[in-house]
Amino acid sequence: MSGTMLCPGCGAVVPDVTELRADHLYVGAAPGCWASYTELIGRQMADPGLLEARMLSVDVYMAQHPGVAGRQASQSVWGHLIGLCLALEFGFDGIASARAKALVAAPNATFDWLEPPASLGPVTVLDILATMTPEEHRARVERWAVSVWAAWAPHAEEIRKRAKGLVEQ
Ligand SMILES: [Zn+2]
Repeated sequence: MSGTMLCPGCGAVVPDVTELRADHLYVGAAPGCWASYTELIGRQMADPGLLEARMLSVDVYMAQHPGVAGRQASQSVWGHLIGLCLALEFGFDGIASARAKALVAAPNATFDWLEPPASLGPVTVLDILATMTPEEHRARVERWAVSVWAAWAPHAEEIRKRAKGLVEQ
């Protein structure tokens, strides 16, 4: 390991490791941050009690690492922000959210690039990895979701509108 770097998405200080990803390059995360995310998902998959936390974490992490403007990144950010909106404002669980989000990518759908706010919240994947119990884990994922959604407030209205449109389909 040759030091640390700031993740361009969440701002976490992560190990400066070599890029190993072949895909997901539209995600604006440092390789070391992505490695932490992979570790998080692995931990959540090992505990059935963390299923909801896992489904929410995917939306939170992706919304916190929007990357740069481009069709794939844009559609991804939209989908995950709608997921956050459905979870936090509509009270959807992971399954219901996934069902609604599947409708986002309609063939004629367009995805304007949402300019990310300067800060995407103070909570990062490292804070979730630092938890010791499932209860703490779930509570902190919830706080992570709330903080990232709050950071996206400048675009909340348009995201809410689109989420509402999906729910009413
Ligand atoms: Zn990051």
